[in-house]
Amino acid sequence: MQKKIGVGSELDSYCGKCKLLLNHVVVAMVESDPKRVRCLTCQSEHNHRMPKPKSSGSRSRSSGSSRTTKTRSVASAAARWQALLADWDEEAAKSYSIYETFSVNDWVSHPKFGKGGVIEVPGPDRIITLFESGEKMLMQGKKRA
Ligand SMILES: [Zn+2]
Repeated sequence: MQKKIGVGSELDSYCGKCKLLLNHVVVAMVESDPKRVRCLTCQSEHNHRMPKPKSSGSRSRSSGSSRTTKTRSVASAAARWQALLADWDEEAAKSYSIYETFSVNDWVSHPKFGKGGVIEVPGPDRIITLFESGEKMLMQGKKRA
């Protein structure tokens, strides 16, 4: 018999901060799937994600990634953005608001910049989010007056 997973259950999830597959506890479920988890190592909360299987070289979506690196920084930002949002889930994404707080790997839906993913949280009041147009520093965690 399989153990039922629910809020409070522990499971393995990929932690973007620790950069490891680690033990996490489920904090939110969507139907029977864990949606948000908290890393028991660094205590950060993020969307549950299994590590992406590493296919060596051959990606079905982008043909010939080894071709040219002429427009390197631009291309890599776009590629990173695509990778970040490869498994974009509208329901899991948070609408951006300065009152909201975000964690690394959170998906952000921004009214102006569109879909993005949090790549860094340099401070409690700011996040660096990668949008299709590039990295943006955004405010977060503003206290409502
Ligand atoms: Zn962690």
